[in-house]
Amino acid sequence: MRLVLLGAPGSGKGTQAARLKDRFGILHISTGDLLRAEVKAGTELGLKAKAVMDAGNLVADDILLGMLEARLAQPDAARGFILDGYPRNLVQADALASLLQRIGQPLDAVVKLEVPGETIIGRCEIRFAKEHRADDNPETVKKRLEIYAEQTAPVANFYAQKGELKIVNGVGELDEVTDRILAVLPGTSAAING
Ligand code: AMP
Repeated sequence: MRLVLLGAPGSGKGTQAARLKDRFGILHISTGDLLRAEVKAGTELGLKAKAVMDAGNLVADDILLGMLEARLAQPDAARGFILDGYPRNLVQADALASLLQRIGQPLDAVVKLEVPGETIIGRCEIRFAKEHRADDNPETVKKRLEIYAEQTAPVANFYAQKGELKIVNGVGELDEVTDRILAVLPGTSAAING
């Protein structure tokens, strides 16, 4: 199973990706987590990315593509993956299509988690209080939501035009949302409640 999960910051992509990873035994590739690991390790890339991330902006496309390509080249990616946080703009969506074609690993599905704006803001406030992620402070969340609307929302249209987009309501109990995602994935209806 090769899957892209789309949705605004705080829409539950990370939480649901972790559940799907367990369900299918495939990789969960969160580009935000990959970047935070670089920041934590104090690498040159991490140092460059930190200020951009803290401001709520997008890190350069070539950095992201390089990171993703390296991760997908590792043997454990052969069984499949869930991409969480990539693609974030149309350049990345094109780059992903070319990369997957080149490595012969086409996507099985693209799922967008839909959550209303006020719920998103509330969830980011809760995450900020719990995890102290610098970019979850209210000002930066506002910036991230603007970038999402300007640059990432068109990515959903990119997949919709190709007939690949499934939209799932991301509000509700975690199990409910997971079941809704499973219900739109190809060939998994038997897995529901299983
Ligand atoms: P996330 O954990 O997905 O919310 O990502 C946290 C931050 O990492 C984002 O606000 C961006 O600064 C950066 N980031 C993550 N994924 C990407 C991406 N695909 N393109 C550019 N920047 C990204």
